[in-house]
Amino acid sequence: MASIFTRIINGEIPCYKIAEDDRFFAFLDINPVSKGHCLVIPKQETDYLFDLDPALLGSLMQFAQKIAKALKQAEDCKRIGITVMGLEVPHAHIHLIPMNSEADIDFHKPKLQLTQEEFTAMAASITQNLLL
Ligand code: 5GP
Repeated sequence: MASIFTRIINGEIPCYKIAEDDRFFAFLDINPVSKGHCLVIPKQETDYLFDLDPALLGSLMQFAQKIAKALKQAEDCKRIGITVMGLEVPHAHIHLIPMNSEADIDFHKPKLQLTQEEFTAMAASITQNLLL
């Protein structure tokens, strides 16, 4: 069965999309730990990030770098933190999280509750800073 992220890529499940190309896809995490929290994924469905072909993993990081630069412009933060866990969704993904302190990247704290309008505005402001 297709992963939930493959279903998002295929448009079967809605998301707040940031960008995509032929190999990669970026969208807002639906349960953000901080405002602007994005997920960057390969379209190829592989559970474990470090099982990806090395060249694909390198290209995924380059794609993530572009998203991170746009995200930093949009969110005016000290830096974009990067985390890989993959314990919930078995489809390799990188979390990009705007942060001003370590607390901003704490997955144990309650997630932000944002409205549809807030998610939409956030996605638009990241997208307008993108240089793909
Ligand atoms: P992990 O697998 O790295 O532990 O966490 C998976 C992440 O995917 C979580 O932060 C969760 O909020 C996010 N996520 C799970 N399902 C969906 C979904 O349907 N849409 C979006 N946008 N994010 C999701």
